[in-house]
Amino acid sequence: MSSTIVWFRRDLRLDDNPAWNWALKRKAPILPIYIHAPGEEQPWSRGAASKWWLHQALQDLSAQLKQSGSQLLIFKAETNQSSQSILDHILHSSGAKAIVWNRCYEPAFVERDSKIKAALTKQGISVESMNGSLLCDPLSLRNRSGKPFQVFTPFWKHCLQDPPRPPIHSDDLSITHSGHRSYSGQIPGCCNLEKLNLLPTKNWDTGISQHWQATRKSGLSQLQKTAIHCCNYHDQRDIPAIDGTSQLSAYLHFGQISPHEFHHHLIQHSASAETAQSGILRQLYWREFSAHLLYHYPHSQSHALKPEYDLFPWKFNRDHLQRWQDGTTGFPIIDAGMRQLWQTGWMHNRVRMITASFLVKHLLQPWQEGARWFWDTLVDADLANNTMGWQWIAGSGADASPYFRIFNPILQSKKFDPDGSYIRTWIPELRDLPAKWIHTPWDFPGHASLPKAASGAPAYPSPIIPHTEGRERALEAYRRFTEIK
Ligand code: FAD
Repeated sequence: MSSTIVWFRRDLRLDDNPAWNWALKRKAPILPIYIHAPGEEQPWSRGAASKWWLHQALQDLSAQLKQSGSQLLIFKAETNQSSQSILDHILHSSGAKAIVWNRCYEPAFVERDSKIKAALTKQGISVESMNGSLLCDPLSLRNRSGKPFQVFTPFWKHCLQDPPRPPIHSDDLSITHSGHRSYSGQIPGCCNLEKLNLLPTKNWDTGISQHWQATRKSGLSQLQKTAIHCCNYHDQRDIPAIDGTSQLSAYLHFGQISPHEFHHHLIQHSASAETAQSGILRQLYWREFSAHLLYHYPHSQSHALKPEYDLFPWKFNRDHLQRWQDGTTGFPIIDAGMRQLWQTGWMHNRVRMITASFLVKHLLQPWQEGARWFWDTLVDADLANNTMGWQWIAGSGADASPYFRIFNPILQSKKFDPDGSYIRTWIPELRDLPAKWIHTPWDFPGHASLPKAASGAPAYPSPIIPHTEGRERALEAYRRFTEIK
């Protein structure tokens, strides 16, 4: 039988992989491929930290495939070359008559893939696409009025009516076990991973490499730990100084761990299914909700989901944006978060909310600027989650926090980092500051003489704007906005 092409995209695993499983069942030689075509990701071409992760994840997938008796073939789209033309070339060179992939639900890919599917089908190729990345496929989900959901709780309740399937175990279905052959011919034009230039040329990634192992094995061991500690999730998930959350977001984004594996494992191993369902698994459904929203409201990737919010009177200020990015706003909880992000490629969810709120409210910067910075620096950068996270904070999203609800960075800091451990970890200048002033170092009598982070570095700065002034300015902007909208 002619070969089957398995087109890996953001499903970089072999277990619980519907597309891989489909190909194995077809019992023909399998040709696993990956195509790097950043031009097709526009306007959200992958950011730098995400590229770092992708490099490691592809390396790991190659190793998994090798172990199962196969080989990943990597292709790079040169300028003016499309995935479609590369696929035509692979189909022609290999004589394959079937191709299968797991769907990506972001606007750019939905459009591209449907064109590819139509063109290949016309050529007589058998094309299959599967859902390998979500518990609830946005294609089929609607509320009672037949419309997409816009409110989380009904969405979640609706999803719970149809419990996710258990993961597909393909242990006995690997190429070596099943006796299917891997495609053994040559395909001209495939390249090695290094040619994709995913790794940075300047070494800003030291902290990221120290913090993460972007392999499936590492994701699985993190999943084990999460299941054990999941009963404490409710009490610990908002404390940034402790590892109280799974830190599996990047593994989920790249499909190294599937949401079905995540769900199943937590239900199986946590002390009580109810605890898991209402705690961490509820968060997993926020991921589902984000994907649902982006799929049905594709304009929200760049514009306000509620269009009137595009009229919001932002006050773009390059200097303020830069200080926020650098973690030098003078508000310790904000700066700690931004520095954690820069050094590790990840930031705790509570702090993502506080830093995002500070940018769009106290500093009146457009949410898209914050989303772009997160996009470039997060290893888990995910268009649906990032878009929804920012629009939720900016008040322009579905089921969002109203704009006039403004996080107080001082109170948030006192509540969620009471002894300042998180702040001290990420801001060395404040490490020895007595607890009394850790959240408001500007009140410390010796503020001007605080130690410097490094020789030549400026001292820890005074607040970029006093909290009350920032809050009043944001509320005033909101008042003006409600008049014009
Ligand atoms: P856990 O608490 O262990 O949760 C388990 C999983 O559920 C996560 O891995 C994630 O996939 C999902 N999840 C948890 N919280 C949320 C949420 N609020 N929304 C959607 N899914 C959620 N998440 C990303 O994966 N990529 C992003 O680019 C991203 N950008 C964000 C931007 C802003 C402004 C905000 C406020 C949130 C953003 N989030 C993003 C959501 C959330 O902060 C992260 O998913 C979470 O911090 C990841 O840590 P964890 O894996 O330990 O989460």
